[in-house]
Amino acid sequence: MHFRDYLRHERLFTDDPYQQEQLRPKIRLSERPQAVMFDNVYRSAKHKIFCHICGSHRHKNGITGLLGSGDRILFGSTCAKEFFGNDVMSRCAGELRAKTKRALDRFLILEVANSIEPVEAWINSYKPIVFHVERAWADIHLRYEAPVTELMNHLQRNKGRLLQSEIKSVGGSATRQRDFEHHTIITTIAEPESIRNLRQLSQRLTLIEQFIYAVKTVRTQPSDQMFSNLSGMYLKTMNAAIEIDACLSFTRDFFQQPRITIIGAWLEEKRRSRLVDVKVMTRQDLSYKFVKIMGSGVEAPPSLVTSLNSTEIPEKLSLRNASSQIDIVSHCRRG
Ligand SMILES: [Zn+2]
Repeated sequence: MHFRDYLRHERLFTDDPYQQEQLRPKIRLSERPQAVMFDNVYRSAKHKIFCHICGSHRHKNGITGLLGSGDRILFGSTCAKEFFGNDVMSRCAGELRAKTKRALDRFLILEVANSIEPVEAWINSYKPIVFHVERAWADIHLRYEAPVTELMNHLQRNKGRLLQSEIKSVGGSATRQRDFEHHTIITTIAEPESIRNLRQLSQRLTLIEQFIYAVKTVRTQPSDQMFSNLSGMYLKTMNAAIEIDACLSFTRDFFQQPRITIIGAWLEEKRRSRLVDVKVMTRQDLSYKFVKIMGSGVEAPPSLVTSLNSTEIPEKLSLRNASSQIDIVSHCRRG
């Protein structure tokens, strides 16, 4: 179901404004009604709709007002502003917007609740991997702190690119020669911005688990406040899932051959460049030690974000999309 359909179902939106109960006949209001509230927003694709305030067919987009008597009237928002005044207008618009926001929260969470299984299945299958990856990164950092910090800082600074530097000389004659540092990209690793989260995966997974647990309880005891809290949690949950996905693909990329060997060679070159007497040093291959800790053949989980999105949240109910629906009240001003 699309959010627009849900709004229609909740009677917060209509594209058929004339088909509403207790709609007043097409006669201009003679006096200002005692009490009014905004019942819903209407949009008519083809026809301009009769306005009970200006008494003519002028607005394609507008508002249905509910009077104290239970009668309904139609009007454009500019007409309403002049007729009812700014205070009434902003109070009514605020109430309708709040009602629409509550509907959005309910809609979003019910959609998630109805198709929570893929996310649960993901967590059941891959939780051990997420925990293992986090522990392994912590272990790698702990055991090889200096070289790993240097490597990770380098990757973060260079957007995931591993650069090899060499000094080259330019200029024809020996007196005019100038040295400069030349960089070559030897490999690139995806999602380098996830480096800062590699050792904080379990707390993100816990956040998602808490959200899922809360969503499941909403099936039995729904309240507006609950929906609103969960809707707030949803965005954080999505972000946590995005970060977990990024960390897992960084890890997958990092340990892929021949990349891991290239990384090992880069680290070794850095180490040797710091040493005075290279000859007596034996070669050290950190890549081998990293692989030993992370384990080879770590299964690469599918995307967690995709399993969250398999809830078929309409048009990927980006909250951006939804808030434009909520702001429909202000938009219909163009009517
Ligand atoms: Zn009007």
